[in-house]
Amino acid sequence: MAENKKRGSLIVISGFSGVGKGTVVKRLVSDFGYNLSVSATTRAPREGEVNGREYYFMERSEFENLIDYGGFIEWTQYVENYYGTPKKYVEKSLEEGKDIILEIEVMGALNVKKQFPDALLIFISAPSISELRNRLAGRGTESEETIIKRLKKATEEAEDMDKYDYVVVNDDLEECIHTVDSVIRSYGCRRDNQ
Ligand code: 5GP
Repeated sequence: MAENKKRGSLIVISGFSGVGKGTVVKRLVSDFGYNLSVSATTRAPREGEVNGREYYFMERSEFENLIDYGGFIEWTQYVENYYGTPKKYVEKSLEEGKDIILEIEVMGALNVKKQFPDALLIFISAPSISELRNRLAGRGTESEETIIKRLKKATEEAEDMDKYDYVVVNDDLEECIHTVDSVIRSYGCRRDNQ
């Protein structure tokens, strides 16, 4: 008789640009072995970013073809660029019973929740907007104009924070990583006991 394998869970992590969620997610993968979906984007790679690791970097036309083809679970435009979650890898992981993390912005997260009501939504917040500005400027990867656009986006995103299952403030990085890991584990236990 075929084994009735439990599907994996979708774990969606969002947070303000510059809040450090990328670092949190990378550590969840490297330290705790979580499985991560690699998104596609039309934004240019930042220094040190590798195609297929941080993102699949694409031309707009390629991205638009993939939209038409139905290749994304969700996609959005964020500060003038497209970002999207490729469908294939996520569906395969879930079918194989593997949990998978999506690191995506708010509109995408809410879209995923509609399609997958069981998805766990975690928002990584900052201690304050001025701290967020310092972190964005300190990163040195964005122009002043982009920083302003990203901060404006952050204030918009803050309005949807209450739609998340958990909000974790990234004040101390190690504490934040461990809290997010605990939240995911306790969610997994609850789900397994259902
Ligand atoms: P960044 O340019 O800083 O790498 O990402 C900008 C924003 O896009 C971040 O909030 C990030 O979480 C979000 N993002 C990255 N990939 C995706 C995706 O596939 N879908 C959506 N909706 N947002 C994404």
